[in-house]
Amino acid sequence: MAIERTLSIIKPDATKRNLTGKIVAKFEEAGLRVVASKRIHLTPAQAGAFYAEHKERGFYGELCAFMASEPVVVQVLEGEGAIAKNREVMGATDPAAAADGTIRKEFALSKGENSVHGSDSEASAAREIAFFFSGLELVG
Ligand code: UDP
Repeated sequence: MAIERTLSIIKPDATKRNLTGKIVAKFEEAGLRVVASKRIHLTPAQAGAFYAEHKERGFYGELCAFMASEPVVVQVLEGEGAIAKNREVMGATDPAAAADGTIRKEFALSKGENSVHGSDSEASAAREIAFFFSGLELVG
């Protein structure tokens, strides 16, 4: 399988509860390497631009407000099949449906406040990494 890079966000509900280290440990245990990392506080407009593909969905306003409510930790994770592997470690969007051992099963509060974001395809990984990081910030 190819070495890939994917964009991860540790969301406000998790940074607020001081869960950053525990979540990063799950990525590392799964064989993913953190090759870029920063803690930032998004504005609602920045959150809106990042989630532009969800603009027409009913939860968009709430999602943007939530993502701008507290700092987030944005990271690039690298590894074999990193995009799918990260989605596996994250678990289903709704923690009630997430498998045992996944981040969302263990830490998420609700379908909205679900602790982590992860790119869902090669195209979105490329767009989302470029949204937050310059090439100089990616250190493999
Ligand atoms: N979301 C929400 N309500 C929903 C579905 C999604 O608040 O009914 C939020 C949730 O934070 C989710 C994000 O919107 O992580 C993006 O939704 P998507 O369906 O892309 O889920 P993901 O890829 O994050 O599992």
